Amino acid sequence: MSKKFVILGGGESGVGAAILARKQGYDVFLSDAGPLKERYKNELRNNNIVFEEGKHSEEKILAADEIMKSPGIPEKNELVKKIRTRGIAVISEIEMAYRFKGESRVIGITGSNGKSTTTSLIYHICKTGGMDAALVGNIGYSFARQVAEDPKPLYVAEISSFQLDDIIDFRPDVAVLLNITEDHLDRYEYKFEKYIRSKFNIVKNQKPEDIFIYCADDPVITQYIKENPLHSNLLPFSMYRELPKGAFIRDKDMILTIDGESFETSVYDFALKGKHNQYNSMAASLTGATIGIRKEKIRVAVENFEGLEHRMQHVLTVRGVDFINDSKATNVNSTWYALESMKQPVILILGGVDKGNDYSALLDLVKEKVKAIVCLGTDNRKIHEAFGKHVEVMVNTGSASEAVKASFHLANKGDVVLLSPACASFDLFKNYEDRGRQFIDAVREL
Ligand code: ADP
Repeated sequence: MSKKFVILGGGESGVGAAILARKQGYDVFLSDAGPLKERYKNELRNNNIVFEEGKHSEEKILAADEIMKSPGIPEKNELVKKIRTRGIAVISEIEMAYRFKGESRVIGITGSNGKSTTTSLIYHICKTGGMDAALVGNIGYSFARQVAEDPKPLYVAEISSFQLDDIIDFRPDVAVLLNITEDHLDRYEYKFEKYIRSKFNIVKNQKPEDIFIYCADDPVITQYIKENPLHSNLLPFSMYRELPKGAFIRDKDMILTIDGESFETSVYDFALKGKHNQYNSMAASLTGATIGIRKEKIRVAVENFEGLEHRMQHVLTVRGVDFINDSKATNVNSTWYALESMKQPVILILGGVDKGNDYSALLDLVKEKVKAIVCLGTDNRKIHEAFGKHVEVMVNTGSASEAVKASFHLANKGDVVLLSPACASFDLFKNYEDRGRQFIDAVREL
């Protein structure tokens, strides 16, 4: 009898996994408590996959041999609790994809910030180097769908901590861990250790021939490695320490060393600007080198890469005031890096859904660079408490256009208006892209 496989959640990863499971001969049932997108329903029908929306039929779900839980569904969900109590095997979508990827290689990229940027840059390096690779995960197609519909010899996968929670055998040939800062703590019982452990799942199954690229300047990462020795071949990168292998920066040059061979590139030539992007560029260059891409190709790729929307995206200069869209900054750390890279006085647009933020990390930079804070959220109390005494002007706004108008009013020629909210967007917007687009539209209307 074929395996009874239930999929909870019918977004890109759930539908991708359903298509793969069906192709592999599983008996598939997909269930989503909310509505499914029309295009996904059509796909499920075309593939003869049984599904339901707007409810979870418990009996059917609890009869599964194995369950794939979409990354968006939290552990505290009542149905998930029941599944756990019954001891039914639960896997994530990347585990499913991994099971059927065959001989292909996998590069897995995780971290609290910079995943999409670094994953895209690695993919760009692979393509520049002539590799037949696919970009999968949060950006683009789900890993499972790619494996089912268009298998490739190399997968470059952006991986969130939720995807890493339910892996069993997933073992990337190259794992990249960019940084670990407090984020999504609401999903980890507000325990930072749990979130750290989940990120390190990326190396759980690695063997000495597998490569682990990580940031040696991140105290959380280095402490964990000290306490939990890993089996992987370690390749660190750092901005402050010269390393015998891996990558580091000396006098504005990136020096990359693998297997005793080094090459240098000027960080001035990196297409992506800002300190955080130097880290991302180092991690991506190292990855390229480990999979055998020639240094000339890596150099060209990091120099001509076009960045992604909503990440430190320069929108317009209106009467001498620069507007920057960093809507993707949904936690304190990414806002820290955005502020850190600012050279002009800043009007900072901050706020939204707070995921347990500690704003004190921003205080020094705010005192140094921020003239005014424009709050953009339904509940701005914590922001006022954190900065009220230190910033002269604080205003509340309830829409992107109000925030842009207020910021423009407060700005002088030579200032920059920075949307880098440190929060999720779901109180006033559909998602961070919607927030970023509304911001851009409002700036264009000034
Ligand atoms: P993710 O996919 O992990 O959410 P993105 O590449 O989309 O990351 O970038 C998200 C935000 O984090 C952007 O606002 C960006 O400016 C900031 N950021 C990018 N790389 C880093 C990094 N290495 N460290 C800290 N912040 C970063």
